[in-house]
Amino acid sequence: MISVAIDGPSGAGKSSMAKRLAAELGYTYVDTGAMYRAIGLYAVRSGKDPADAPAVEALLPQIRLDLGMVDGTQHIYLNGEDVSDAIRTEQISMAASAVAANPAVRAFLLQTQRDLAASRNVLMDGRDIGTVVLPNATVKIFLTASAEARADRRFREQQAKGEPVRYEDVLADIERRDYQDSHRAAAPLRQAEDAILVDTSDLGIEESFRLLKKTILTHL
Ligand code: C5P
Repeated sequence: MISVAIDGPSGAGKSSMAKRLAAELGYTYVDTGAMYRAIGLYAVRSGKDPADAPAVEALLPQIRLDLGMVDGTQHIYLNGEDVSDAIRTEQISMAASAVAANPAVRAFLLQTQRDLAASRNVLMDGRDIGTVVLPNATVKIFLTASAEARADRRFREQQAKGEPVRYEDVLADIERRDYQDSHRAAAPLRQAEDAILVDTSDLGIEESFRLLKKTILTHL
């Protein structure tokens, strides 16, 4: 089986590019961030503080996650409910980042993620795929861009959607999540020693995609 691991900070364009590339290569796209988000959503809905590790751990036996494909896009189901849209809010981004620091949550998801890669060719994106989940991945990429470049892209996206946002707030949010993800004890965000660095700070979407695709294809 072929596995491509793509790790990197939030807002580097991992999921949109990984999704598109998986479709071109005919691999299954696995968005591991969606799994952490679904657990964050469950914690918030249950009235628990996502940073309260014992409280979140106690919820895990009540959670069943399933992934499915609808029209070529990955959907995630939380106890049977399609929560693919509900997990894409700023509140749930922060909740996901908080539950992701919890070793019990990481252990809960690890086997599911490995099982997915054991039976099919996958392109899996996350924070610890190359370092922890798939240490023997065929190709490992660390996809990044400066915090300013990522904030700028997100700011424009939100503006285009008509959402009233301030650039400084978007940047602060990205920096906060970067810090939280790279300073936690459990599987912190870092580049695997054998991962190839792809930095898209100065590239547009199409150029970034071409660079990522070329880098992966030459290492498969
Ligand atoms: O990639 P996405 O922004 O959807 O991920 C949400 C959060 O889940 C991240 O901020 C990170 O804390 C966590 N995460 C993780 N390990 C992964 C994927 C996501 O810790 N493999």
